[in-house]
Amino acid sequence: MARFTLPRDLYFGPNAMAELKCLKGYKKAFIVTGGSSMKRTGFLDKLVNILKETGLETRIYEGVEPDPSIERVYDGAKAMREFEPDVIVAIGGGSPMDAAKAMWIFYEYPDKTFEDIKTPFTMPKLRQKAIFVAIPSTSGTASEVTAFSVITDYSTGIKYPLADFEITPDIAILDTEIPLTMPKKLTAHTGMDALTHAIEAYVATARSEFSDPLALKAISDIFDSLVDSYNGDSEARGKIHIAQCLAGMAFSNALLGIAHSLAHKTGAVFKIPHGCCNAILLPNVIQYNSRVCMERYAQIARFVGLPGATDKQLVNSLVDAVRDLNKKLGIAQTYKENGVSKSDFKANCEFIAENAVLDPCTASNPRATDKDEMLRVLTCSYYGEDVTF
Ligand code: NDP
Ligand code: MN
Repeated sequence: MARFTLPRDLYFGPNAMAELKCLKGYKKAFIVTGGSSMKRTGFLDKLVNILKETGLETRIYEGVEPDPSIERVYDGAKAMREFEPDVIVAIGGGSPMDAAKAMWIFYEYPDKTFEDIKTPFTMPKLRQKAIFVAIPSTSGTASEVTAFSVITDYSTGIKYPLADFEITPDIAILDTEIPLTMPKKLTAHTGMDALTHAIEAYVATARSEFSDPLALKAISDIFDSLVDSYNGDSEARGKIHIAQCLAGMAFSNALLGIAHSLAHKTGAVFKIPHGCCNAILLPNVIQYNSRVCMERYAQIARFVGLPGATDKQLVNSLVDAVRDLNKKLGIAQTYKENGVSKSDFKANCEFIAENAVLDPCTASNPRATDKDEMLRVLTCSYYGEDVTF
């Protein structure tokens, strides 16, 4: 038996936020957002106005930081318990969406702790108190359609991907006007996060007939439009907003691989944005995994029209295409070039490799791995070397 789960409703396109009038009949909306971007760009006010016109009382929880902490989650859950919403609306990047999902769990189950829910697919039944609406403002994490929430434990320096279809949102709003305000660097990093989701999902052990077409379409749209989106083309920006969501639908069900296992740990330790870590790791992870799934990567390369007569040539073309894309997006391709000193790397690489093996994403990677293998891939990504079988 296999399962494929998505939000019940998706509204998409310019001004899709107006469709929130579908919430008529609900009483109280608790809005979770990040620092200031949604307020500054006017989207937060717009959201509040639509909800008020629809007859909902609103409360705003602001200030979710990038890579939200366990403490942030408990604080937000407490504020939810005070307000008692029947709708939770997260607006912003992956960080506020993920924080809101985790707050939702502790709002519904105040007696649970982080320890109780961190084992994947063991969450209690949600929606006893509220439904969940997600409005992404970045084009990468696809948290609006996924069963994941990534929360960082800063006391141990580890990022935990919480996972359960219980936290898949009920409604996703892909308003293509919102990502237009993203600065270039954010567009590049989040876009590479989305590409990594789609490529990892296409080769992951839990992939299926349902996830494959979503992953392929996302990959080709990202190769077609990410550079234009980065350079400010608004049509391309909208296309990538949809493509990252297709990638999310794929990976929420097919799961991911060791690019994400390593990205979760290196992001927390070296303080490098999640999408940037993926952009650095992806070429090396393709090389490493190609030993067991060369044919699958070759299918991707063929689908997006890359050159090559043999599967091996096609895989090399895919690796080159990812590196070329990074270059066009102004992303430095190694940890070293991203400012991680040799001593910092040496002091942390064993810890990172060890914990990356334990990351839930490792289980669905197509090639089995261990600490030494993780370290090998990570070291190549530090210096910018090729991973040979
Ligand atoms: P963040 O949500 O961390 O946001 C990064 C920055 O972008 C913030 O400073 C934010 O500002 C700003 N910002 C957001 N939207 C806009 C906009 N439209 N215009 C201008 N600035 C904007 O970034 P990501 O979306 O990349 O999320 C990363 C997080 O998601 C990581 O913690 C990662 O681990 C997680 N993740 C979750 C997944 C999932 O399935 N749940 C999958 C992959 C990653 P401000 O704070 O002021 O709003
Ligand atoms: Mn990701």
